[in-house]
Amino acid sequence: MKNGKLYEHCDVALVACMKHHLTIDQVIELRTELQRQLIRLEQSMRVTEKALQTVELDQTAVGRLSRIDSLQNQSLSKGLREREVVRLSQLREAISRIEKETFGLCIACGGEIPYERLFVVPEAPLCGECPS
Ligand SMILES: [Zn+2]
Repeated sequence: MKNGKLYEHCDVALVACMKHHLTIDQVIELRTELQRQLIRLEQSMRVTEKALQTVELDQTAVGRLSRIDSLQNQSLSKGLREREVVRLSQLREAISRIEKETFGLCIACGGEIPYERLFVVPEAPLCGECPS
């Protein structure tokens, strides 16, 4: 009956989000989108991780020009990984805000984040008027 309980909890959280300005359909749609983006990000992070490892192996084996090339690729991959790590935590936080029943509310002022904004950026933590 674990599954039954899980769904029950999710529904309670979804209904609580509805008490704000979002409809249950909107919250379900945004949660689906967040989970979809999370899966895609995790896939892309595995590719980045592989690229970083490959470059590390290359460094001993290749000539000077290729080594410069490798280092450039490595710094690109590192920058990419940093952005991915930030986005991963934004997505996870947004999903946990659904569970904590505060999804759709600005983390700075507590005001409502317009649905139009969430539609474009479902993980948005701020209302758009608060400085990031
Ligand atoms: Zn705000």
